[in-house]
Amino acid sequence: MYKGKADSFSFVWLMRRYEDTYQHKGMRRQLVKLLQEKGITDEQVLEAINNIPRHYFLDSAFDKIAYEDRAFPIGEGQTISQPYTVAYQTQLLQVKKGDKVLEIGTGSVYQASVLAEIGAWIYTIERQKKLYEAHKNFIFRSKYPNIKFFYGDGFEGLPTYAPFDKVIITAAAPFIPPKLLAQMKPGGMMVIPVDEGEVQRMLRITKQTDGSFKEEAFDQFSFVPMLSGKQG
Ligand code: SAH
Repeated sequence: MYKGKADSFSFVWLMRRYEDTYQHKGMRRQLVKLLQEKGITDEQVLEAINNIPRHYFLDSAFDKIAYEDRAFPIGEGQTISQPYTVAYQTQLLQVKKGDKVLEIGTGSVYQASVLAEIGAWIYTIERQKKLYEAHKNFIFRSKYPNIKFFYGDGFEGLPTYAPFDKVIITAAAPFIPPKLLAQMKPGGMMVIPVDEGEVQRMLRITKQTDGSFKEEAFDQFSFVPMLSGKQG
């Protein structure tokens, strides 16, 4: 009997947690406007952010502030990236429908969802077991069958699934991992924040058809560190 009550309680709790109200949608539109003001122009990116309920990716305590342009804690000392950062990296990556994308740092799965919403195929790696395991309860598992989850060390990439059209690193890399460069297709691109200090420079690396690399530098950001090895 008690169990029945508990079940209906959790059901109601879940229904409320995953409710996308007019208020949420309104806040999301405001966020998209802000991203446009900050210089995001890629329509696909703006539309993906407008379509994805970011509050589903956060603890319900953040419900009212989920659409502020801020990073938030997601447990295990990690964060969901700031929407501007997600939009900026995705725009730089020039993602197209059908692109095969390698993501380092699954975290909350928000960035992967933005890429999936655009129609790319995502191979995302997380080194923290608890965060990796959380994908089993990911609300959009059936909506985004184009996201594949891996537990491992991003410095190694995924040689079995390589080569990739695009590579996105969502943690501060101390250097550009050579194994990830090797897993890019000719003509492919990597977007990666590099530096061990407080702030990192966003770089875009393009693998030319002759196998050489072109490097472009963009704005500075602040990410949690990309660490080697798995944490179990
Ligand atoms: N893309 C995430 C951002 C997560 S923050 C989102 O949208 O929420 C960065 C994540 O990178 C953390 O979860 C951290 O555990 C993970 N990470 C750090 N170093 C890594 C590595 N070498 N391989 C895989 N994941 C790594």
